[in-house]
Amino acid sequence: MTMPLSSERLNLSIDTTSGEMHAQVEVPTGVIPISDIVPVLRSLGEQAQALEVSNTVQSGKTISCQKGCGACCRQMIPVSPPEAFVLIDGMHMLPSDQQERIRQNLALTKKQLQKVGLLSPLQDLADSPHQHSDDELESLNRAYYALRLPCIFLENEVCSIYDHRPSGCRSHLVTSLPELCQDMANNPIEELHVPLRAGTVLSILWSDLTEGPVRLIPLPVAFEWAETHQELNAPTWKAATLFDKAMDGLGKFLQHTRAAFGHKKPEE
Ligand code: SF4
Repeated sequence: MTMPLSSERLNLSIDTTSGEMHAQVEVPTGVIPISDIVPVLRSLGEQAQALEVSNTVQSGKTISCQKGCGACCRQMIPVSPPEAFVLIDGMHMLPSDQQERIRQNLALTKKQLQKVGLLSPLQDLADSPHQHSDDELESLNRAYYALRLPCIFLENEVCSIYDHRPSGCRSHLVTSLPELCQDMANNPIEELHVPLRAGTVLSILWSDLTEGPVRLIPLPVAFEWAETHQELNAPTWKAATLFDKAMDGLGKFLQHTRAAFGHKKPEE
């Protein structure tokens, strides 16, 4: 990810499934690679989540998540292609000893995935020419979670790349008891509704730009995917064009979400 030379502040009003969101974002100007639009979408995702948190607190519930609990960092985290490039760029900026620890964690994780026959399916998913439905991914997610593999970035139950973590990690918040998250597959977890999944919007944007499927890459294979597809991160776009396309992607996401929930959140 390059540091944009200039940006402009935009005020947006977005009708989400958590209500009307009044957001402010810094949008790069000039000519940029797709990775430079990632912070814009992540900011929108976080502002939408803040709206949902506010709704939840107003309803009398308490968010249980706290620093030092990495229970949800043992799931298969989906990474959008633009974020895979950001992840690899961010990795190169870390201190060398931290990079080494992450590479060792990654090697160990891939070895364990290979042992149980899950590495190939994850690699196939990352490069699949087709889009997979949530139902199709469910068995893979369950098999992955059953291993309880800690994320390669988790150190002492704390995310070692917190400010740079993928969008997929930013939306997990619960109001149920923290200990229930030790078995998220079988316990009655009360997860907050996610009105805006920035990673999915980035994947829709990527699909639009590459005329391919809406691709979400499992985190353990995101590095190798980004390394073997670096040429796809080379093109640059006028920032305004890219932002407009991102907003089109956001519109598609919101339309799909509204249709799925019948204009209502699941718990309503
Ligand atoms: S990147 Fe960080 S927040 Fe996301 S799963 Fe890994 S350790 Fe957890």
